[in-house]
Amino acid sequence: MNNWSDFFQQKSASQARANLKRARSGPPSSPVIDFGSNDYLGFRRHSSVIAAVQQAAEQGWGSGASPVIGGYSPLHSQLETELAKLSGQADCITFSSGFGCNLGTLACLATDGDLVLSDQLNHASLIDGIRLSRAHRQVYPHLQTQYVADFLSQHRHEYAKVMLVTESIFSMDGDAAPLEDLSEVCRRFDCGLVVDEAHATGVYGPRGGGLLEELRLEEQVLLKLGTLSKALGSIGGYACGAAAPIEYLVNHCRSYLFSTAMPAPVAAGALASLRLLGETQVERRTLREASRQLRRQLSAAGWNVPMGDSPIVPVIIGSEKSALALAKRLELVGYRIPAIRPPTVPAGTARLRISLSSLHGEAQLAGLIAAFGPAS
Ligand code: PMP
Repeated sequence: MNNWSDFFQQKSASQARANLKRARSGPPSSPVIDFGSNDYLGFRRHSSVIAAVQQAAEQGWGSGASPVIGGYSPLHSQLETELAKLSGQADCITFSSGFGCNLGTLACLATDGDLVLSDQLNHASLIDGIRLSRAHRQVYPHLQTQYVADFLSQHRHEYAKVMLVTESIFSMDGDAAPLEDLSEVCRRFDCGLVVDEAHATGVYGPRGGGLLEELRLEEQVLLKLGTLSKALGSIGGYACGAAAPIEYLVNHCRSYLFSTAMPAPVAAGALASLRLLGETQVERRTLREASRQLRRQLSAAGWNVPMGDSPIVPVIIGSEKSALALAKRLELVGYRIPAIRPPTVPAGTARLRISLSSLHGEAQLAGLIAAFGPAS
């Protein structure tokens, strides 16, 4: 026995006692219906995406090196061009994960003497990137633009550069940031706005560009962050912006410079998904309508479900044990919905997070609502 084995044993035993152990898990096998994936448009199994990946893989799989020492191919370049177009920005930089993109990008944009304002419910990758930056971090209450405005009017002069970081659609609550108000405050106080559109890309905006596209705010941002791993059905992350910030990232971002480029077939798959996005206006509308309906019906049955139209529909339960028990009960009758628990969400707000896909049919949604039944 040594300190490390004591440490692991204690941690493991306390989680086991509370029946709260996490486990790695794959997609459910049929006939269970999956309401846990972020594949909002069903692209990860789309034949044209799979064909594009296979075709590119004929030329080789791994990229072999960092993008600045030989790992960068014409497919990477094409993908960046298309992502920049979709985002209404001049340029783009891609990473092999969304987490690595957020972490590295935020860490290298701000530094000592700068200020970063961060929504209380921002994703771990954003939080960790801000922490790594050494800038002063000011967490603001979820969605509270007035707090941001008051803070900046008092403290803006104390800092060299200032940045505000928010998700557009929040990953665990499925609610939307007040981007119009935030961008107005950022303009007023010379504050760079950085928006993570991980969960909005593909779902919002006439071309699926995200909430910034829908609200026509693309020109108001310093950077738009995103991931290829959700509606685009692949893996990888990206940041889009004007030429200068992207050039800066190519030259300074450590998770970019010191990490092997994504395999070119991944870029090929993402390019195929981007082509499909143009044909999914109907799916986007249906998905958002399904979200509104589901929220209304679960609320009517007494469940604590906030209103909205994003494909992330949280059913707030409260205690971790009750959330796990409900997830188990639903899985037994054929519906896989992950229970999300602290520290992913604040204590006392454990929930089931329903992720909708445009492939879920009306019968499956009706079945899900029936399976929930009335809240007791
Ligand atoms: N940002 C947000 C808001 C996310 O929800 C996630 C993933 N859960 C990421 C970034 C990280 O993306 P990836 O899974 O592609 O690493």
